[in-house]
Amino acid sequence: MTKIYINGKLFDQHEARVSVYDHGLLYGDGVFEGMRVYSGKVFRLKEHIDRLYESARHIWLEIPLSREQLMEDTIATVKANHKQDGYIRLVVTRGSGSLGLDPRKCSDPQIIIIVDDITMYPPELYENGLEIVTASTIRNHHNAVNPRVKSLNYLNNILAKIEAIRAGCLEAIMLNHNGEVAECTGDNIFLVKKGVLRTPPIDAGILDGITRNAVIELARAASIPVQEWTLTRHDVYAADECFLTGTAAEVIPVVKCDGRTIGTGKPGAITKQLRERFFQLARQ
Ligand code: PMP
Repeated sequence: MTKIYINGKLFDQHEARVSVYDHGLLYGDGVFEGMRVYSGKVFRLKEHIDRLYESARHIWLEIPLSREQLMEDTIATVKANHKQDGYIRLVVTRGSGSLGLDPRKCSDPQIIIIVDDITMYPPELYENGLEIVTASTIRNHHNAVNPRVKSLNYLNNILAKIEAIRAGCLEAIMLNHNGEVAECTGDNIFLVKKGVLRTPPIDAGILDGITRNAVIELARAASIPVQEWTLTRHDVYAADECFLTGTAAEVIPVVKCDGRTIGTGKPGAITKQLRERFFQLARQ
């Protein structure tokens, strides 16, 4: 039975509850993180916790625990679930309030930690590559809910995901308000062109992905040049290789976009190399 952490206590999965008045439910008012456990160790725990606190700061949500305590509680919840390899969902809601937006009426933020498994894509797609499309739903403007905030309000990305599914794909590119490539609905995007690794800069309006940063570090360490560049759909269509990164997705090759074959139509050498190096790093 999965043990769920809520505000310092562990509950059996079926006993774990939050109020229907919680503004996390009523308005998507809250923040979250998704992390992975590899060989019993949480990958880049501190980076995830720091991003959570930054998201919370942005939305004026005070997390009633220190970063150290939350890290300890996360590790303890992994241990309580005896997970060597798995996925952690850490959620902080605004708490229960009244039927109105006013967050001042919410006094009890709920800190929830779920430790479970996640499979984003079927295993064969990691070998053969994924087909994606461009969604018509654009990524949030940075003056709306900034994409750097990992908020509970993912509807925009869900709409783009539905577009992907309706087009027979599992993931979609979201453009920003300038029509440039931002990221996918739950993953960051990378291209390889003439041996150079390219990915949109953070100010394209994307989540500052922790897997993205790990892959950039790994590429630099392997002397692969990396450029954080403005990318358009043309760059995707004309790329030699393309792959996506994310905690849940890890590193997954993309071989087709909007019906165009990317490169040879098979996962590329640099993609494979970085995917292997990522697993070495994660399992260290
Ligand atoms: N972009 C979006 C929109 C995401 O939701 C995520 C995480 N699922 C990512 C990128 C990847 O970020 P990370 O590597 O930190 O999981």
